Amino acid sequence: MQPTATVQVFLFALLTALATGVGALPFVFVKDLPRRWLGASNAIAAGLMLAASFGLLYEGVDYDLLRTVAGAVIGLVFIVLVRKLLQRDEHPAVFAQMTDLDARKALLIVGVMTMHSFTEGVGVGVSFGGGIELGLFITLAIAVHNIPEGLATSLVLVPRGVSWSRAAFWSVFSSLPQPLMAVPAFIFVETFKPLLPYGLGFAAGAMIWMVFSELVPDALDEASSNLVAIILTLSVLAMIAFQVLIR
Ligand SMILES: [Zn+2]
Repeated sequence: MQPTATVQVFLFALLTALATGVGALPFVFVKDLPRRWLGASNAIAAGLMLAASFGLLYEGVDYDLLRTVAGAVIGLVFIVLVRKLLQRDEHPAVFAQMTDLDARKALLIVGVMTMHSFTEGVGVGVSFGGGIELGLFITLAIAVHNIPEGLATSLVLVPRGVSWSRAAFWSVFSSLPQPLMAVPAFIFVETFKPLLPYGLGFAAGAMIWMVFSELVPDALDEASSNLVAIILTLSVLAMIAFQVLIR
């Protein structure tokens, strides 16, 4: 394994984290956006994540079906257990300037986003283990997906009195596990090549769970199921078309 390859993976994953901050930029110009934007943002993020997950799965089954499926089940169990632990552990002190209820909600969002991006970091890292082409596809899918996610985070924070720059900071902060996790995940699958299908499956299993446990319900809270389904379908199509076009 080349040290330059590891640096490259770190920089690509850092790029995906910074993209999250782009989602806060509309709030430089406006103080509030219609809530339907929150639904649309989450629907776009869901579609891109779903397409990325299947990209990881198809790459994995090219190596080994059983190990990929086993990895996906391990990823699913992992995410369900972590999410259970997370809901018991909240530290409202970080958002001390807000009212208690809002602080808890905001912190829970940041906490859930952090766990969410931990998995995406693993996804980016293991994807580079599958080659530069898959790595770039997953990096772009996650980076673009992070923009509406940053927008969704900011849509919750800004109307509660958080400035756009702080919202951008928290959005990027919530995505920092991406570069931090991508590097060890990449080194792991590069060192233990036979475990690559497990890694690809792991990230995909956890990500598919997050699409339907977090992003789709959040989208449906703010927009009609018809609009959410239309945006989600188009996002999946755009990502699949892109994956074919970069070949
Ligand atoms: Zn995400």
